[in-house]
Amino acid sequence: MVDTSSEPPLIRRLCVIGVGLIGGSLARALRRTAAVSEVVGCGRNQQTLEKALELGVIDCYHTSPVQAVAGADVVLLAVPLGAMRSVMEQIRSHLAVDAVVTDAGSAKACVLADARAAFGQVPRNLVLGHPIAGTERSGVEASFAELFEGRRVILTPLAETDRRACELITRMWSATGADVVEMGVTHHDEVLAATSHLPHVLAFSLVDTLAQMDDHAEIFRYAAGGFRDFTRIASSDPVMWRDICVANRAPLLKALDAFDADLRELAEAVRRGDGETIQTHFERAKTARDNLYRG
Ligand code: NAP
Repeated sequence: MVDTSSEPPLIRRLCVIGVGLIGGSLARALRRTAAVSEVVGCGRNQQTLEKALELGVIDCYHTSPVQAVAGADVVLLAVPLGAMRSVMEQIRSHLAVDAVVTDAGSAKACVLADARAAFGQVPRNLVLGHPIAGTERSGVEASFAELFEGRRVILTPLAETDRRACELITRMWSATGADVVEMGVTHHDEVLAATSHLPHVLAFSLVDTLAQMDDHAEIFRYAAGGFRDFTRIASSDPVMWRDICVANRAPLLKALDAFDADLRELAEAVRRGDGETIQTHFERAKTARDNLYRG
């Protein structure tokens, strides 16, 4: 992690719209390293913002995005994907001239489309990003300063994105201890559909299938550690994940179709009692996972 305590702060005033798990954790991390002087929070719910103030995550707040962005040099949009466009439309005429706007949304093509619709064109000082870090918990009370340490943050700048804006957002995430990489928007959405969005859909779907069985109470009574590990992410926020599925539907459907084809093959092998095919699938999967998390 970069210790910025002896240097002037990287960001004078940070406005966080959506002070939840991600927005709150970024604010905490930047405050911890003195990379920011002042954090202004924004959300719809005054009680949540009071809590954020009490926890020392923000210095002050506004429920109006128009007031919240006034004088901010960096504005982070950390609201669910379905709320991005409306927030952009509200702030577009009220940003400081040299303000850099960034986001934390889990899919990027949809946010880019929202920006085009809200601003008329994609602003040069808009740097889209996605921290590959999170938990199944939501809200400012779940936020913590270490969330991004050693994790990846993907930025998806366009060719016309201002390089200085991009540099500032890179330094902002680096100050949290994250490893910042750049990627194309389409590639980001395809990769994340496979590694994050598909597993969340599967976890929600599995728990839902079992919960609808007549004897679900009996089934869940005997659920062991493996079930708990596999389904942890089914405790994630349904609204946030609804928005991600809708926003990133084309890449997600491609991943779901591939999974569906593989699952059918496996089901067919189970039906035939074909142990060899089943074992081949499992061995391939074990090797891939062991390699992924080796060491
Ligand atoms: P969260 O904990 O639920 O926080 C979202 C915040 O947005 C809440 O504080 C909520 O406050 C505010 N909000 C919701 N709708 C709003 C609206 N219409 N206008 C203004 N504020 C609104 O969610 P999160 O996990 O931090 O996720 C935030 C973003 O990060 C999402 O785009 C998500 O895709 C992305 N992300 C999440 C994860 C993860 O694992 N959780 C990881 C990477 C990226 P009020 O209710 O007070 O408005």
